[in-house]
Amino acid sequence: MSFAEALKSKVRKKAHLSCCLCKAIGVEVHHIIPQEEGGPDTEDNAAPLCPSCHETYGANPQKRKFIREARDLWYEICEKRYASDVDKLEEIKRLLQHTVSYEDFQSFKEELLSHIIEGFETPRSEQEIVDAVSELLDKVWYNRHLFLRQQVKAGKEKVNPEIWKGALKSARKVEKRYGKAALGPYDDFEWGMINGKLSALRWVLGDDWDMLDT
Ligand SMILES: [Zn+2]
Repeated sequence: MSFAEALKSKVRKKAHLSCCLCKAIGVEVHHIIPQEEGGPDTEDNAAPLCPSCHETYGANPQKRKFIREARDLWYEICEKRYASDVDKLEEIKRLLQHTVSYEDFQSFKEELLSHIIEGFETPRSEQEIVDAVSELLDKVWYNRHLFLRQQVKAGKEKVNPEIWKGALKSARKVEKRYGKAALGPYDDFEWGMINGKLSALRWVLGDDWDMLDT
């Protein structure tokens, strides 16, 4: 067995998509007591850990109590610090600014999509919205990535080589999915279209989402 999707999503939300140990964004839901030892698929046995902490502490039985305590404390901090939705979105915005890897961005995307889907009745099907938003955000990510790539090449920006390797790989995946021609460089008209769509999305989501400015 493994955790139900709904539970994983709940755990990620409670932790504001961040690792309960190092606070990095982008988490896996970890079994504190492992499945091999009969650890249940319950919320109490679930901890949000980033891949690195998962690897470092996940298999160490000595750390189980520590992980559980760190998790409960982190949940408490998340709940108190970001009590209102607006504050929570501010925090997501901040996290997004530090997002380099595509995996991080995917987590952010999931969060964003869940906000859209939970709150709105629309004439479009859920899948249509998900696909459209997904494509739009992929394109925005890709363009930010290209910009960052220039900065890195010029030595103006430094990134963790491992994360950067992943980002380059993800960029190739995005290129494969949409075709390089569809990914820019965009002329003024195309940017106009993208920005128009983003504005519409922003309107749907409310003003809190103005970080979607490209
Ligand atoms: Zn971590």
